[in-house]
Amino acid sequence: MTSTSLKKIIVIGAGPAGLMAAERAVDAGFAVDVYDAMPSVGRKFLLAGKSGMNLTHAEAHSDLLERYSNSSLQLRAALDAFPAQAICDWASSLGVATFVGSSKRVFPVDMKAAPLLRAWLHRLRVSGVNFFMRHKWQGWTEEGHIFQTSEGAKIVHADACIYAFGGASWPRLGSDGAWLSPFQAQNLTVEPLTASNCGFELAWSDYFKQHFAGRPLTSVCASVVSSSGIGSKRQGQFVITDTGVEGSLIYALSATIRRQIELAGYCELQIDLLPGRDLSRVQKELSMPRGSRSLSSHLRSKLGLHAIHTALIHECLRPEQIQDTDQLALALKALPIKLLRARPIEEAISSAGGLQWSELDERFMLKKKPGHFCAGEMLNWDAPTGGYLLTACFATGVAAGQGAIAWLKE
Ligand SMILES: Cc1cc2nc3c(=O)[nH]c(=O)nc-3n(C[C@H](O)[C@H](O)[C@H](O)COP(=O)(O)OP(=O)(O)OC[C@H]3O[C@@H](n4cnc5c(N)ncnc54)[C@H](O)[C@@H]3O)c2cc1C
Repeated sequence: MTSTSLKKIIVIGAGPAGLMAAERAVDAGFAVDVYDAMPSVGRKFLLAGKSGMNLTHAEAHSDLLERYSNSSLQLRAALDAFPAQAICDWASSLGVATFVGSSKRVFPVDMKAAPLLRAWLHRLRVSGVNFFMRHKWQGWTEEGHIFQTSEGAKIVHADACIYAFGGASWPRLGSDGAWLSPFQAQNLTVEPLTASNCGFELAWSDYFKQHFAGRPLTSVCASVVSSSGIGSKRQGQFVITDTGVEGSLIYALSATIRRQIELAGYCELQIDLLPGRDLSRVQKELSMPRGSRSLSSHLRSKLGLHAIHTALIHECLRPEQIQDTDQLALALKALPIKLLRARPIEEAISSAGGLQWSELDERFMLKKKPGHFCAGEMLNWDAPTGGYLLTACFATGVAAGQGAIAWLKE
């Protein structure tokens, strides 16, 4: 049988989710064409490799499922079928060995994305996948899919289609959320795409910005104060920026921070600057005679705090709170930082929101459009950094690919 007599599956979006779906489909013997708006594939995947490609996470599978909070249930079958170990095996099948870092994050040995993507694309091409770059999907017509290309509009027909448009962070890499309008025009419900795993803004003084922007605060605990009390406590590090705060500790809390800002107009973050010492010990150390020493050197000698901590205390507390030993001790264990808004989605690592789960059946097929499947970050799930984003993209790519295969075989 020639490939033209095979049933054709098209995949739109050549990120990790789309490529994973394409691989399933071609391995099952279908003709597969991959379309993407950009001149080359996997641009965000490559960017992810710049700061150390974190492919997945080696914690217990039940813990990993919990990272998808509101969407654990909907993602469960896909993640069960393609868990963290399957991702490592898949990377290994491409000649890329992985290792588990100290925080149980899983990385390729060279930490890079490019060799993995290169080997993957080679295997896909050899298997028969065709790539059509600079094809921007615009929506549907009676005849099929309409793409904008350098030669004008092009109509493409397929037996099944898998959409993997991504979210809307870093839009210059291709995923710009333009798919939302055609989807909404077909009465497909989409939650607005909002910044996730992003920095948050607050108004630092000029002095603080000039001296401490770019500096990290390591080994601290952060908790979000919400109307129902203090929750979501995490330990880690974050970075002071010109406009506020960013970094892994903030990203881990970003879903909760975002919700709290939506509810109250701001979010109070409490920072425990001394997680290794309890309040009574901090009080005792602070009460020791200070003599002629400045507060800064007292905090350094008694509690090991540095200039950045002292400056942060001055940013966040009133002078009378700093003078009062009890209030200061309390603040060192729970320094209130008022976050006002998320940084723009253009800078975020990922986006939350996307196509509502109720639009999909268990095969990741649109209930209103049989034969049309969706995968990856365009779906309405959210997760912190730590390899969870790519894990869900790979797993939903596999699930949508399998879904399309099963549907075409029916
Ligand atoms: C700086 C940074 C670092 C990251 N690091 C990590 C990490 O270490 N670990 C991790 O797990 N995750 C990481 N991520 C997140 C991860 O890269 C994304 O979650 C993942 O790439 C999403 O995969 P996707 O296939 O759903 O979408 P994308 O990778 O965004 O791919 C979507 C594709 O669809 C194409 N497309 C969009 N609209 C159209 C259209 N209308 N027509 C045609 N084509 C279209 C785009 O051009 C793009 O190629 C990082 C992200 C960033 C920004």
